[in-house]
Amino acid sequence: MLLTQGPQFNGHPSKRMHVMAKPIGAACNIDCNYCYYLSKQDLLQYKKGCSPQMSDDDLELYIKHYIEAQNTPEIIFSWQGGEPTLLGLAYFEKIVELQKKYQPQGVSIANDLQTNGTLLNAKWCQFLKENNFLVGLSIDGPAMYHDAYRTNRAGRGTHKQVMEAVKLLHEYEVRFATLTCINNLTSRNPLEVYRFLRDEVKSPQMQFIPIVEQKTFRDTAPQTWAANEQPRQGDKRLIPGAKNSVMESWCVSDEAWGNFLIAVFDEWATHDIGTVFVQYFEAFIETWMGRKNPLCTLSEFCGKGLAMEPNGDVFACDHYVYPEYKIGNLHTDNLDEMAFSSQQQRFGFSKTRNLTEQCKQCDYQFACFGECPKNRFIRTRQGEPGLNYLCAGWHKFYKHADRSLAHILRVMGYPVAHGKYSDSVMRQAMALQQPKPVKNDMFNKNVFGAKF
Ligand code: SF4
Ligand code: SF4
Repeated sequence: MLLTQGPQFNGHPSKRMHVMAKPIGAACNIDCNYCYYLSKQDLLQYKKGCSPQMSDDDLELYIKHYIEAQNTPEIIFSWQGGEPTLLGLAYFEKIVELQKKYQPQGVSIANDLQTNGTLLNAKWCQFLKENNFLVGLSIDGPAMYHDAYRTNRAGRGTHKQVMEAVKLLHEYEVRFATLTCINNLTSRNPLEVYRFLRDEVKSPQMQFIPIVEQKTFRDTAPQTWAANEQPRQGDKRLIPGAKNSVMESWCVSDEAWGNFLIAVFDEWATHDIGTVFVQYFEAFIETWMGRKNPLCTLSEFCGKGLAMEPNGDVFACDHYVYPEYKIGNLHTDNLDEMAFSSQQQRFGFSKTRNLTEQCKQCDYQFACFGECPKNRFIRTRQGEPGLNYLCAGWHKFYKHADRSLAHILRVMGYPVAHGKYSDSVMRQAMALQQPKPVKNDMFNKNVFGAKF
């Protein structure tokens, strides 16, 4: 699972893995209200106000081990923080140099960099372009939403700086994707957010991240919540901002999440298919075709991406950087052994093993798989613990999009493998209605009258 043993490469079984490296840990130059990572400084017992920076020796050790642990035509490095650009351009030049030093023949090396964009300048962009980095840029839509939470240490919004970074990324033709947090504000203004990203930012790829944190998230690891304390689906304490809410006020509610996705999906399906890339929707098209969902949150198993701290500590996932989920350290353990360890395999498989009955019976289990286990902290209406907080929103969206996704696939000429409107189900339905053989062209726009 973590290391995929597939076809041969260079005469040996292919081996692939993914680590999200955080060479500057949680250190950041801005102070977003909902950052799940800033509090990790305390949790991991770093000195107040700063995380250790990964030393040059450790950086070299990591690059060497990460390359040696894999046998694949392309090795992808991912750099995150905190804010990794705080390390300075020279640090990243060194990274590229070290990668070249250990690069095996016939293997290409690629890099991703996640950034808040505030420190990007022309020199950075030139470097990113020359070295073909893929940049993930955090931007939460128009200034009034972005600046509500993405503030600098003086409490001032950072939107203007991020838009300057957008300009530079376009100017230097750097490959980038936008990451937009869907919180209590952005979720209520879906079209404004989407159209801004489409028309002003001209985002080459949109990624939306639902913001879900209980008030205890700073020091309590997911999956350690007492089952009998989990509120049931529909409990008012799950509404962010409500009296006695267990949620942080800036979170998206389950209902708002569903409404956000529906509004954006309808706009995209009506005007932008084929011209605007929305990561979720592209992934759903694959899922409705019967392929595996490429997004970990909506796939069957976890554990495909480890997270590494600047001191070499390795954790099961970026969302599980808590002491309970540490699986080893770069100095004492091999990366591939950690990735294949029984602890990590248990973590990966528990995503499906721990599905609630509600998920097992759900028409959309194939697309959702109970979403990210980090968000599974409520009980079903029947009282079973471990349901996903966003369930109601996800379900509403799947039900809404099912017909349109099936229609899109048919127009594209692909059979529909999943969903209420899948080809097999429709064939059965048609066969029941009329005993004549079903012609392919019956599955067309007019039959379904699908409305985008
Ligand atoms: S815990 Fe969530 S983010 Fe981590 S691998 Fe699982 S689904 Fe993905
Ligand atoms: S929509 Fe809800 S019930 Fe269905 S799989 Fe997702 S979390 Fe489970």
